[in-house]
Amino acid sequence: MTTPLKPLLRTWEWQAEAACRGMDSSVFFSPPGERGSARRRRERRAQEICGHCPVRAACAGFAAASAQRYGVWGGRTEAERRAASPR
Ligand code: SF4
Repeated sequence: MTTPLKPLLRTWEWQAEAACRGMDSSVFFSPPGERGSARRRRERRAQEICGHCPVRAACAGFAAASAQRYGVWGGRTEAERRAASPR
């Protein structure tokens, strides 16, 4: 008998190699009310981490395939993903 969890686990396997593994997610996701320069600084910090992540492509692909609306994924901000996605 096959386990129904296998496809789901495969979907997340790449995260085991993530540069952000174990980090505080507040670097990647905006806290309530964050604006302007504070947002840009946080996003830049997240993008620096993504910049040396070995699974960046898989992360970006997952974010696109699952239409992630919030956070920095694969080195791209919410605004960058929105601008790149077909309307
Ligand atoms: S690309 Fe960035 S957000 Fe994605 S797994 Fe790597 S460090 Fe985390």
